[in-house]
Amino acid sequence: MFIGHFGVAFAAKRVVPEVKLGTAILAATFLDLLWPFFVAAGIEVVKIVPGNMEFSPLRFVSYPFSHSLVMALLWGGLFALAYVALGGSRRAAFWMGLLVVSHWFLDLIVHEPDLQLFPELDIYVGLGLWDSIGGTLLVEGGLFVVGVWLYLSATRARDAAGVWGLWGLVLLLVVSYVGVVIGPPPHNVSTIVITAIVGIAVSVIWAYWLERHREPKASG
Ligand SMILES: [Zn+2]
Repeated sequence: MFIGHFGVAFAAKRVVPEVKLGTAILAATFLDLLWPFFVAAGIEVVKIVPGNMEFSPLRFVSYPFSHSLVMALLWGGLFALAYVALGGSRRAAFWMGLLVVSHWFLDLIVHEPDLQLFPELDIYVGLGLWDSIGGTLLVEGGLFVVGVWLYLSATRARDAAGVWGLWGLVLLLVVSYVGVVIGPPPHNVSTIVITAIVGIAVSVIWAYWLERHREPKASG
């Protein structure tokens, strides 16, 4: 899943307003941020197979360290611990841990059966929604629209940058998403690795910057 993860990150603002959007995006996409590093290190494997699924040319041959259920729980726990260690509240840390784990369940909806419950265990799950472009757009797009709407209901812009910064980020994510749907498959695995890291890093940094120009509605 791509844009749906950002949807739940936006929605988190409604539940834990003190958590920065950048942190929530980092949590929701954390497994996808680890993944390119594991691929580059050669311990996880992805192949480009045009037409593999209607929606995505990526075949996730092996990614147990970033994308198995047990490891997702472990990464979620570590993320929550780090959040507390950096001075965050336990309640917010709990929700951030949950956001990390939510990634696996959202991927479960769209991926073909390639997600493991546990590394080394040869059981692969995935509901395969990516084989339907309409269904994918409905579920992922729906999550994204609802998430942005919840974010808008929880914050307000302090200045013009708070308005255009938000819509700029939304536009960037939508355009990237449309590019994935209608664009050609990536050239090679290095392109995927770099795109994943840069894409997540840019959106996280953008979100931190953006929130210097927005504030929670309740505080006003
Ligand atoms: Zn993922």
